[in-house]
Amino acid sequence: MVRLLVFAILVWGVYHFVKKLIRAYFDSMGPGQHPRQGTDLDAEMIQDPQCGAYFMKQKGVKKVVDGKVVYFCSQQCYERYRQRRSGK
Ligand SMILES: [Zn+2]
Repeated sequence: MVRLLVFAILVWGVYHFVKKLIRAYFDSMGPGQHPRQGTDLDAEMIQDPQCGAYFMKQKGVKKVVDGKVVYFCSQQCYERYRQRRSGK
């Protein structure tokens, strides 16, 4: 009986792991609004310095601010971030 339970948990774990993999695979393909660029390392989660939202690095907007590469979740956040830095 215990062996059956362990087996069930194992199957459940593998099932969810595979589901996660499949979802990550389709997410990386995207719906096609963004041309695929960069390496697979770009698939990490990073935080928007403007609104604080977490997003996939490859789906963010890449900008250079003061010689530093910064990623934003959207173009609007970049504009706001730039205004906040330059405006007083
Ligand atoms: Zn944002």
